[in-house]
Amino acid sequence: MTVKVRFAPSPTGYLHIGNARPALLNWLFALSHGGQFVLRIDDTDVERCRDEYRLAIGEDLAWLGITPHELHRQSERTALYDAAVETLKANGRLYPCYETADELERRRARQRARGLPPIYDRAALALSDAERAALEAAGRKPHWRFKLDGAPVSWTDLVRGEERVETTSLSDPILVREDGTYLYTLPSVVDDIEMGITHVIRGEDHVTNTGVQIAIIQALGGAVPVFAHANLLATTAGEAFSKRSGALSLRTLRRDGYEAMAVASIAVLTGTSDEVHAYRNLDELAAHVDLAHVSRSTAKFDPHELDALNARLVHKLDHATVADRLAALGIGGGEAFWFAVRDNLAKVVDAALWWRVVEGPIEPVVAAEDVDFLGAAKALLPEEPWDETTWGTWTKIVGAATGRKGRALFMPLRQALTGLDHGPELKRLLPLIGRRNTLARLP
Ligand code: GLU
Repeated sequence: MTVKVRFAPSPTGYLHIGNARPALLNWLFALSHGGQFVLRIDDTDVERCRDEYRLAIGEDLAWLGITPHELHRQSERTALYDAAVETLKANGRLYPCYETADELERRRARQRARGLPPIYDRAALALSDAERAALEAAGRKPHWRFKLDGAPVSWTDLVRGEERVETTSLSDPILVREDGTYLYTLPSVVDDIEMGITHVIRGEDHVTNTGVQIAIIQALGGAVPVFAHANLLATTAGEAFSKRSGALSLRTLRRDGYEAMAVASIAVLTGTSDEVHAYRNLDELAAHVDLAHVSRSTAKFDPHELDALNARLVHKLDHATVADRLAALGIGGGEAFWFAVRDNLAKVVDAALWWRVVEGPIEPVVAAEDVDFLGAAKALLPEEPWDETTWGTWTKIVGAATGRKGRALFMPLRQALTGLDHGPELKRLLPLIGRRNTLARLP
């Protein structure tokens, strides 16, 4: 069996780090099983879906390294849902109901008052043809409910283990609204069957849908996929991420210069029993992800942890990986520059600061009491060519000539050459700064 998974976002906002989790869990599962990944845009809700968001989904997934094998839009697949409706009607599994939202709410309130669960009482099933005709003549349009057959539904969840739902404790779900539009449930199931989805990996907010969805799949004669419901990513305060707030959207993280692999690693490994480690690519991450290691409690996402993870990842990036981005930032210096500065970076873009230090112009920092010392150092500056030994050779002879050592020797040189009192190792920076710049920065 070829594994086929799907990620099915609704284009109602920009994807955020919480959405990255199911997207990546699906992609990594497909990767490690040699499977196919379907991107399905759940855009049946025309009011809330926007093209701008739909296009952004593809871009944001591509940034993470996800390149779907198939792309579908539910808004283009209505004929399939209509056909499923006909099948369910023909099999007596879909029935028209005429209650208004207010009527249903009053009924539920009465049930609660009597200590009964607020389950739909199937009053509409008892309507005669004449009663239905009368309601329709009075202008009422039906919504349609799926008739659950009362059999319990169970599945073995790859994250949660054995799950069982007593469908007698559920209301018959509404599949089609009065205006003929579909709620999420039926299109999702029809697509999963039609596309041959073998594994449905999604957030645990959907566990409550799964019992009903399995019942519908069975009613349609489809193959029931394997389900996995992963815990949701939440803020450290325990709040869910929302597409509407825009906070921690993948675009914002990208714009703010985070590495896609730092974001991917943290989005996937948080809330698992595995260590949150920044893997360099999705293949490496795939080898370390196991749905059985996803925990059942909320996965708390800490932005500080992302900063730390990003920095650790940047410190390991080789030059080839960042060459294009450095070039786009106008940064030269090749591999020597990158290796000189990468350990001092929290983000790749921060390399621009050190490139300015190398190229100049900078504001050298020279304390009055160091002017003579720096003048002496200037006079002793070796001739080029320079390499990583130049700094050691130079400071040794400067130390011997001036009697300075330790901080008193090194700090005034660092401040004059870089304008800062911290930074990358000078033995690496000095050859990049070069003799001409060095002379110009010394008094
Ligand atoms: N469109 C649904 C959502 O974004 C898809 C849920 C599913 O994976 O079945 O929550």
